[in-house]
Amino acid sequence: MSKITALDTYDVRFPTSRELDGSDAMNPDPDYSAAYVVMRTDQPSLAGYGLAFTIGRGNDVQKAAIDALNHHVAGLDLDEVIDDLGGFARRLIGDSQLRWLGPEKGVMHMAIGAVVNAAWDLAARAAGKPLWRFIADMTPEQIVATIDFRYLTDALTPEEALTMLHAAAAGKARRLAQLLQEGYPAYTTSPGWLGYSDEKMQRLAREAVAAGFRTIKLKVGMNVEDDVRRCRLARATVGPDIGIAVDANQRWDVPDAIAWLRHLAEFRLAWVEEPTSPDDVLGHAAIRHAVAPVPISTGEHTQNRVMFKQLFQANAVDLIQIDAARVGGVNENLAIMLLAAKFGVRVFPHAGGVGLCELVQHLAMADFVAISGNKDDRAIEFVDHLHEHFVDPVVIANGCYIAPSAPGFSAQMRTDSVAQYVYPEGPAWCMPVDTAKA
Ligand SMILES: [Mg+2]
Repeated sequence: MSKITALDTYDVRFPTSRELDGSDAMNPDPDYSAAYVVMRTDQPSLAGYGLAFTIGRGNDVQKAAIDALNHHVAGLDLDEVIDDLGGFARRLIGDSQLRWLGPEKGVMHMAIGAVVNAAWDLAARAAGKPLWRFIADMTPEQIVATIDFRYLTDALTPEEALTMLHAAAAGKARRLAQLLQEGYPAYTTSPGWLGYSDEKMQRLAREAVAAGFRTIKLKVGMNVEDDVRRCRLARATVGPDIGIAVDANQRWDVPDAIAWLRHLAEFRLAWVEEPTSPDDVLGHAAIRHAVAPVPISTGEHTQNRVMFKQLFQANAVDLIQIDAARVGGVNENLAIMLLAAKFGVRVFPHAGGVGLCELVQHLAMADFVAISGNKDDRAIEFVDHLHEHFVDPVVIANGCYIAPSAPGFSAQMRTDSVAQYVYPEGPAWCMPVDTAKA
């Protein structure tokens, strides 16, 4: 019988702040980073890969949190994990001493997410399937068994989830063929970073439309005059038929968001993302009510399924971002996608960073095939950064994510990339010798 032998962790950081890639109103100089985990087995050719995404400082803290879970994993029978992914996640979340650090939020929860995702990657690899297909091929009962319904049953019970999944099963084969044929729609944030000049934004926006993207997203929230100018330039560049979303990355208080968004209403925004604190459910509801019909959204920093439940119950959002590496792994994202389907809220998965596109595409595709059955009224974020560091990088064609075919969750990083960017000893972080002073 195969065993899981070790949980190896790596602090991998990319010096993206040097080019202002990823710059926004709250995060002016991110160094995109991964607390990267490899779940090794006694079979040299079989391991599971996962990551928690951070933006630089603190990636060592995130790595230490993953290391704190080692005692739950090393030495387990492989089958014990991959045959009961729900039980595995519940054991990590249920560690009463570590739970004190959350519960189910922040660094520890993200660490659990990385390890749980590595277990799903391992299970999909063992089955020889890409993760989206591995999920889509599960029965409704198997999917429901992976989900922790604790704190959800006032909004969604296991029985309701089963009914929804059985109803979705009818069109599964047709949607699977459709996904393989068409891919899954993407939108792009590449033109919109706040640190870019107007000229660079317009050039990248033109390129995005030419590449087939139907929506672009701009970062906003530093200066309202700049935002009005950039939205106007973007609209003139892409024309009336391309969606323009904006993302404030939690910049505003509630009254400020309402006042600011009145200046941007004329641009017919596709949505406004993270207008205020991700924890402020009633604040989102107030903003949404005040600026209607401008669609309001949040989710990439929404820490768990309980917060999503409240956003839906309070009619606080028109759509959400899910993030593959923020909550407690695939299991919790399945719960969130089921909740969104029940409340009729569209899902525009958050991606970019490092590895987030690779990961979240699987969740969106599984949602289309097996849960919501919809993909044409939604899109996955795409940013063209750092994909070259992955063994199975995303493939985009004509503004769509092409369904991955390699087994697993696409989270495996290239060995040479890990060696190059491991912090602080990797060559990418070693300062060049200043010969002028020698
Ligand atoms: Mg965002």
